[in-house]
Amino acid sequence: MTTSTQTPGSQTQGGTWQRRFGDSLMKSLATPKVMLERGEGCYVWDVDGKRYLDFLAGIAVNSLGHAHPVLVEALSKQAATLIHVSNYFATPSQVELAERLKRITGAGERGRVYYGNSGAEANEAAFKLLRLNKGDGSRKRILALQSSFHGRTMGALALTGKPALRKDFEPMLPGVEHIETSIEALEQAIDETVAGIIIEPIKGEAGVVDLPEGFLVAARELTAKHGALLILDEIQTGVGRTGSWFTFQQFGIVPDAITVAKGIAGGVPIGALVTFGDASDLFEAGMHGSTFGGNPFATTAANAVLGEIESSGLVQNAEVRGHQIREAIAAIGSPLVQEIRGRGLLIGVGLVDPIAAEVSARALEVGLIVNAANDSSIRIAPPLIVGDDEIAEFVRLFTAVLKGLE
Ligand SMILES: *Cc1c(COP(=O)(O)O)cnc(C)c1O
Repeated sequence: MTTSTQTPGSQTQGGTWQRRFGDSLMKSLATPKVMLERGEGCYVWDVDGKRYLDFLAGIAVNSLGHAHPVLVEALSKQAATLIHVSNYFATPSQVELAERLKRITGAGERGRVYYGNSGAEANEAAFKLLRLNKGDGSRKRILALQSSFHGRTMGALALTGKPALRKDFEPMLPGVEHIETSIEALEQAIDETVAGIIIEPIKGEAGVVDLPEGFLVAARELTAKHGALLILDEIQTGVGRTGSWFTFQQFGIVPDAITVAKGIAGGVPIGALVTFGDASDLFEAGMHGSTFGGNPFATTAANAVLGEIESSGLVQNAEVRGHQIREAIAAIGSPLVQEIRGRGLLIGVGLVDPIAAEVSARALEVGLIVNAANDSSIRIAPPLIVGDDEIAEFVRLFTAVLKGLE
């Protein structure tokens, strides 16, 4: 642990850290309320030494919590060995991770992996994959869902079904249609002119919203029937968080591709597109690439995280702890809670009123990190290592927050 000689939270010649932040970071970022300095397990500490129970995990990113010894050791060793080489060279961790992803996704023998550096980049690669599914040249339409989120770069943004995020950046890339999330809407939209559809198995940024019953199975059947690709954005739902390695595995379907990022490397930036079956043959040499993509530092991080999730049974832990947390929230019996959504450790608490910002602000005051995914939804996504003690503390803090607002 390092301690700074000048506490950023204190009054200094440069002003408070909030002012320095506001004066130097792009205005696209709101100034946060708290500056964090270090973390351990499910806890983080701010620059004034205040401790927080982290039930957001950097938005489903810190799968192993903070400063996990397995990740710390793997990264320290790799930093002293080889950080980056470019795609002119192969590295052992790059190949090992691709093989591991083929295994845990079930993509198997024909599966292939492309590496980028973020969720948005994984979806940019997915967008290109969709463009490559041309058919006889008339497959130009791409379907996506209303209220979906796929990232902020221009391709990912064109796929994103939130007009408020798109409006300042028109015109969008052409060809994307946002349909209602219903089997009927999909049936009506799909035909031989559709290259494919991209779907979040649970809509995370929309407030952890589950898909309607039967929707994913219908999407698989309809896309297969019309030669369209089914791409699942598992960036938030993947890597064990919902109680299986990937959420689609709970629905008994096999997609043509998935995108992965957030939780895969414990916070080291990396994203991936994993293709299944025939979709693996669409990209040819030279069609796509990234300077940093799949470098030995990031792929070593992912191997360490995925290896630890596997050897410590954290996928099962996500399922068990998810039930435990859901039951505990229901048992609080707060009249402010309307419903509890999601799967495993991706939990959405639907509130009866648009008070999510107040709930998350009060939580922060009492030392609990959760997030207002929208006006009336709280998102809870603790590290996959979460156990009894942290859950007991969460229940105590969350109860106090809700009671204070009733
Ligand atoms: C976070 C997220 C993205 C974007 O990932 P970035 O790493 O922020 O670019 C895309 N899709 C889903 C479902 C996400 O949750």
